[in-house]
Amino acid sequence: MNMMVIPERSGTAFRLSAGKMLTVVDPKGEQVADLLAFNADDMDEAISSGRTLDYAETIRLTTGHRLYSNRSNAMLEIVEDTVGMHDFLLTPCSVDTFHHFYPGQPPHRGCFGNLAEALAPYGIEPDRIPVAFNCFMNVPIDGETGKLRVLPPISKAGDHITLRAEMDLVIGLTACSAPDSNGGSFKPIHYRIE
Ligand SMILES: [Zn+2]
Repeated sequence: MNMMVIPERSGTAFRLSAGKMLTVVDPKGEQVADLLAFNADDMDEAISSGRTLDYAETIRLTTGHRLYSNRSNAMLEIVEDTVGMHDFLLTPCSVDTFHHFYPGQPPHRGCFGNLAEALAPYGIEPDRIPVAFNCFMNVPIDGETGKLRVLPPISKAGDHITLRAEMDLVIGLTACSAPDSNGGSFKPIHYRIE
């Protein structure tokens, strides 16, 4: 499959069959991509940050880790990762994120709005959108105080993460719209399925 392009500040959704490999590429560097997964045969089964972090016993997910559903089934396994810094704590940015953190800037519907529109044809209502696996998002935690920060991604142009589908999935994927998450500028995201 050819490389697909998600333009800056937008999103898409597509099917990913069991066994297929999804590679998410940061073509220019310092750009986040929010990733959601649903069981293609039962949309009540969705990717779960809580299950995944519990079973991984770390918040630093990389090659070899599996992303689990709310029913504790493996949905995706990370099989290659050139960055090693992703976030699975924070929700997709939304118009409310902009009101909260960027009150002086024009609000944007963000990853949440982009995911809601892309997933609507698959029957996903906005209230069912969970915490996304945020590829390349850099959210360091102070181990003493618990304070977290959102810093520019450490990803360089061409960095990527490859995930193998462990079941038939519907995937939602964005090029993130929040200034702080992306080093202050908005770039596209590329992906391919093999
Ligand atoms: Zn975002």
